[in-house]
Amino acid sequence: MKYIFVTGGVVSSLGKGLAAAALGTLLEHRGLRVLMQKFDPYLNVDPGTMSPFQHGEVYVLDDGAETDLDLGHYERFTSGRLSKLNNLTSGQVYENVIKKERRGDYLGATVQVIPHVTDEIKRRLYDVTNSTDADIIITELGGTTGDIEGLPFLEALRQFNDEVGHENVAFMHATLIPYIKAAEELKTKPTQQSVAKLREIGIAPDVIVCRSEYPVDADLKQKISMFCNIRADAVVPFLDLKETIYEAPLKLYDQHLDSIICDSLGLKTEEPNLIEWRNMVDRIVNPTHNVKIGVVGKYIELQDAYKSIYESLTHAGAANDTHVEVVRIDSSLIEEEGAAKVLDGVSAILIPGGFGDRGIEGKISAARYARENKIPFFGICLGMQIATIEFARNVCGLEGAHSTEFAPDTEHPVICLLEDQKEIDQKGGSMRLGTWETALTPQSLSSKLYSSLTANERHRHRYEFNQDYREQFEESGLTLVGTSPDGTLGEIVEIPDHPFFIAVQFHPEFQSKPTAPHPLFKGFVEAALENRK
Ligand code: GLN
Repeated sequence: MKYIFVTGGVVSSLGKGLAAAALGTLLEHRGLRVLMQKFDPYLNVDPGTMSPFQHGEVYVLDDGAETDLDLGHYERFTSGRLSKLNNLTSGQVYENVIKKERRGDYLGATVQVIPHVTDEIKRRLYDVTNSTDADIIITELGGTTGDIEGLPFLEALRQFNDEVGHENVAFMHATLIPYIKAAEELKTKPTQQSVAKLREIGIAPDVIVCRSEYPVDADLKQKISMFCNIRADAVVPFLDLKETIYEAPLKLYDQHLDSIICDSLGLKTEEPNLIEWRNMVDRIVNPTHNVKIGVVGKYIELQDAYKSIYESLTHAGAANDTHVEVVRIDSSLIEEEGAAKVLDGVSAILIPGGFGDRGIEGKISAARYARENKIPFFGICLGMQIATIEFARNVCGLEGAHSTEFAPDTEHPVICLLEDQKEIDQKGGSMRLGTWETALTPQSLSSKLYSSLTANERHRHRYEFNQDYREQFEESGLTLVGTSPDGTLGEIVEIPDHPFFIAVQFHPEFQSKPTAPHPLFKGFVEAALENRK
C-alpha cells in the first residue's frame, strides 16, 4: 500500500480538499485504485451536529456516516464509494481512547496523547489499509499546520511514515503564495514558515502545492525549493480556477503533480488518459444554452451549505449542453416581498434540505408559486415536506397544515416524526441515515427518469410524509409515486398535471458525478430549459 498525506499551511479554505481530490482523479486515470479519506482534528464526533454556518454541508455516505463536505469532492472526483472509516475526527479518537481506558485496556498506564491518542489515529490507518483493495490511500488532514488540535495527527503521521517506510509515503503540503499589491510581488515567507512548522514536527513535504492568484515563476520556485528543502520541480503552482473546479485535475496534470507523486512513491504507470474528463470540462465551460434556476433556502449566503446541490446542477447542466445560472434566494426575502417578485425570471425552482423554522413560510410560498405557474419544481428532503404542506393547505383545504417539526400541535400534521424517532433523545447520528431503497410507481415521471422501478438513495431526516393523508392528496392531484419497499415510508411525491413537479425525501445530490449526472437533476434542468423556451 502507498500513502499520500495532504496537509495545509498558511490559511484555511485553500482548496486543499480540491487539490487532494484532483490528485485522486489523476492517479485513478493512471489505472491505480485510489481510496480517499479525511482526518478532521475538531472534537465533534462527526459534523452532523454542526450548523451549516460553521461547517457547510454535511455529506452523507451510503452507510449513513455524516461527514465533511470534502468527502463529497472525493466521491465526485474518483470512483470510490466511501464509508464511515474514511472520516476520522478527534472526537472519535478520544471517544475510543476513553472507552478503552474505562474498560481497563490500558490498566496500569498513564493514558497520554503520545502514544495512546497517536496509536488510535494510526490504528485507523491500518484498519483502512486492511479493509480496502486500493493501491493508494490519500488522506487529507483538516485544518492548518500550527493548529493545536492538529498536532496529535501530525505526530501520528510522522510515526506512521517511520513504520511503513518513506518509500511508501508521500507528503503533499498545500500553501498560499499571497500577492502583495503595494509591492507588486508574490510572497513565499508564509510558505517557508508553514513548512518549517512541519519540519519541526519531523515531516518533510515531498510536494508543495502553491495556491496563487498569479503565475509562480522559476525564480520563485527556486526560492521555495531552497528554503523548504525540496526539489524545485516539486513546487507545484495551483492557480485560481477560472471556469470550473473540474479543471483542477487538468491544471495539476499540466504541472506534472501526478508524475512527481508517482516518482516519489516508486510507482510506474502509463500517463493518464484524460480525454473523457477533458470532454466533460469542455461541456461545462462551453455550453450552448443558459438557464436560471432559483434555489430557495436558508443558508443561501454560504458558498458551501448546498455544495452538492450546486455541483449536481452543474453536472446536469453539462449533460444538457446548458450553463445553469443558480439564483440563490433567501426564503425570508420571499416572506417580505412575495414569491412573484423574488422569483421573477427564474425558469425552475429548487428547495433543498434544511432544519429549523426560519424562512419556512417563504419556502411554502415558493412551492405554491411553482405549482400554480407550472414552473418546474424540485423539492429535496425539507423541500419535499414543504411541497406537501403547501399542497395540503392550498389545494386540499387543510387549514394550518404543517410539519410537527415546526408546529407540534398542528391540526393537520401532514409531515410527522418517523415512528422509530419517537424514542430517540440523542441528537448526534440519530436521524434516518444512509442509503435505502425506494420502490417507484410505473408510469411516474421519476421512474421514467431513473429508467427503473427502484432507486437507492441516501437519507438524512427525522420527519416523514404522513400517509394518513395519502388518499386525500391523491384525489386532489399530488401522488405518492415512491415509497420504501414495504410501502410504509413516503419517498417521492409528484403532481402529474404539471410539467415537472418532483419532490423527494432523500438526497439525490450526494450521488451525482460530473461524468455521471443524476437522472432527476438531469430531467429537472431539461424541464427548466423547456420552460425557458
Ligand atoms: N428537517 C427535516 C427532517 O428532519 C428535513 C431534513 C433535511 O432536509 N435533511 O425530516
